[in-house]
Amino acid sequence: MMSRTMTEAQIPKRVDGGKLVDVNQQLTGQIDASKLTRLSAATLRSDTPVSCNLEFDRDIERHRVLKGDCSTSVVMTCQRCLGEVTLAISSNFELGLVFNDEQAKQLPKRLEPAELTEDGLLDLWEIIEDEVLLSLPDFPMHPADECSADLPEQEETNADVKRPNPFEVLAQLKQK
Ligand SMILES: [Zn+2]
Repeated sequence: MMSRTMTEAQIPKRVDGGKLVDVNQQLTGQIDASKLTRLSAATLRSDTPVSCNLEFDRDIERHRVLKGDCSTSVVMTCQRCLGEVTLAISSNFELGLVFNDEQAKQLPKRLEPAELTEDGLLDLWEIIEDEVLLSLPDFPMHPADECSADLPEQEETNADVKRPNPFEVLAQLKQK
C-alpha cells in the first residue's frame, strides 16, 4: 500500500463522476500544472501544482454537483512594465454534472454544466484547468508600488495636486 500524505496526493485525471456523487466523495490533492498544456500556453510559467479541494454531492434539488476550490500561482507578463509578475490564482466553483445537453439546459443558472461521458466519466484535470484559465486576469499587472514601469500618469497627477485651501481646511475643522 502506498503511503501518501494528503498534501502530496495527486488528483486523478479521470473519475467516475456518477459513482463519486453517490458516495459523496471528497478529494483533496494537487494536479501537476506542467500537464495542463492550455495553462502553460496562456502563461509564461505555471510550475506551481494546482491545489484542489473537491466534493461530489447532490444539491438540495438532487442535481449531481461537483463543488470546491482550486489555487495555484502563475507567472505572466505585466501589461504595464512588460516584466514578469507572479500572480496568485484561486477559484471557487459549483458545477452541475450532466450526461447530455438536454440535462444541461435543465440546470439552474447557478450551476455551470460539466458533461460526463456516456460511461459517467469526468476529466477532472480539464475541469480544473478551465477554472484556473477563467480566473487569469485579462490585464496582469504588478501592484503599483512594485511595478518598475515609469508611471507618467501618476507623476502628472502628483504635480496637479493642489495645495489645500486654508479656508476649506478651517471649514472642515469646524464641522468636527
Ligand atoms: Zn509591472
